Amino acid sequence: MSAEVTIVGGGIGGLTLALMLHEAGIESRVFEAAPELKAIGVGVNLLPHATRELSRLGLEDALAAVAVTTRESGFYNRFGQFIYSEPTGRHAGYEWPQFSIHRGDLHAVLLDAFRQRVGEDRLHTGWRCTGFAQDAGGVDLFFEDPVSGKKLEARRAAIAVGCEGIHSSIRRQLYPDEGPPRYSGINMWRGVTRAKPFLTGASMVRIGWLKPAKVLVYPIRDAIDAEGRQLINWVVDVETPEYKAQRDWNRQGRLEDFLHAVADWHFDWLDVPALLERADMVLEYPMVDQDPLPRWSFGRLTLLGDAAHPMYPRGANGAAQAILDCRVLAGCLKLVADPVAALAEYERLRLPATTKVVLTNRQDPPDAILREVFLRTGDRPFRAIEEVISREELAGMSERYHRISGSDKESVHGTR
Ligand SMILES: Cc1cc2nc3c(=O)[nH]c(=O)nc-3n(C[C@H](O)[C@H](O)[C@H](O)COP(=O)(O)OP(=O)(O)OC[C@H]3O[C@@H](n4cnc5c(N)ncnc54)[C@H](O)[C@@H]3O)c2cc1C
Repeated sequence: MSAEVTIVGGGIGGLTLALMLHEAGIESRVFEAAPELKAIGVGVNLLPHATRELSRLGLEDALAAVAVTTRESGFYNRFGQFIYSEPTGRHAGYEWPQFSIHRGDLHAVLLDAFRQRVGEDRLHTGWRCTGFAQDAGGVDLFFEDPVSGKKLEARRAAIAVGCEGIHSSIRRQLYPDEGPPRYSGINMWRGVTRAKPFLTGASMVRIGWLKPAKVLVYPIRDAIDAEGRQLINWVVDVETPEYKAQRDWNRQGRLEDFLHAVADWHFDWLDVPALLERADMVLEYPMVDQDPLPRWSFGRLTLLGDAAHPMYPRGANGAAQAILDCRVLAGCLKLVADPVAALAEYERLRLPATTKVVLTNRQDPPDAILREVFLRTGDRPFRAIEEVISREELAGMSERYHRISGSDKESVHGTR
């Protein structure tokens, strides 16, 4: 296939797609709304189903240089008692590592590679897509300047991919009656703190259940100063019946809105309130998703990543599922001569798989282990975890989630 692909949105999915298309010998061009690409966001986790794909792009060393290579994933109750842990990435026998990384660092690694391989002139910043029109021969994409609001010239695309994330204008045009996102009843506060390493120095831990709070903590940058501190990412989930504001990844949060929920979480292995109080920044974001769509591909146009399947940010799958979409779409465009058929085949392969992840994140998330212990103990300390739940049962719950998201060993190594 020789036609150029027009990618709308230069986030994690858009840039990864351009790199994979380049590898497949297909030209692309990216139109990104932000006038300037800055390191925004906080932490994301990349499990082996995602790092395999990024390693195949030759990016493993660049990622390892800026990320923390995660050793273990642990679960604790709100009294700081250990429930379960499992090794991660290569430590668990995968061929690929797990990285905990600042979203800005991940984006910067992709952007560097894009500039070197695809070319700076193929990235157009300050182009906000406002909609499209399509005929049999191609897609006209409409844009405006995000600062002045001035209309920019329309661009004709042989193939167009909407990678604009949760606020996709293309999705909105395809599904005008979709309605607002579905709120889970949980609000999230996220932040980063410069602090001394805890546990192994490369541990990801989940603590407590939603009443009063669940906390996820992991380091995302190593040795950031002479005292050997790390940049530590944290997310606090609190049941909050209503959330009225719009989804915005950059909305500022306030410590006083949630610190009380974890005020006495002083463990000998981590002082949670002290960590949160010393945060460099606090953001808030509602846990929302949208019902899976029946269709993504329409003629020469399709959706990818959060634009196609916004999901609860659980189990490290926001970025990972976008990256997996890219691999499949690039493969289809390489192998199937007719672009319309290629986009249909991409949808056939990826829509059901991502639908399962969206729905599982609602019902049976990776931290369902914590819910189970919360329910069985009536939210009280236990004498010994084996009296509450066996290790086999815990491992089974964790494995079930990995299988659905495609991050289990057999799926990642291609033996399932
Ligand atoms: C600012 C920001 C901060 C984030 N922070 C985190 C975080 O801390 N932790 C986390 O887990 N996830 C975060 N995410 C989400 C995470 O990056 C995605 O869930 C995941 O990587 C899927 O990638 P994506 O490419 O589908 O979407 P994104 O990575 O969100 O990329 C979408 C891109 O499209 C651009 N765009 C939006 N509208 C238009 C338009 N109309 N025309 C052209 N371009 C458009 C956006 O500016 C963005 O660059 C953040 C996303 C953004 C945009």
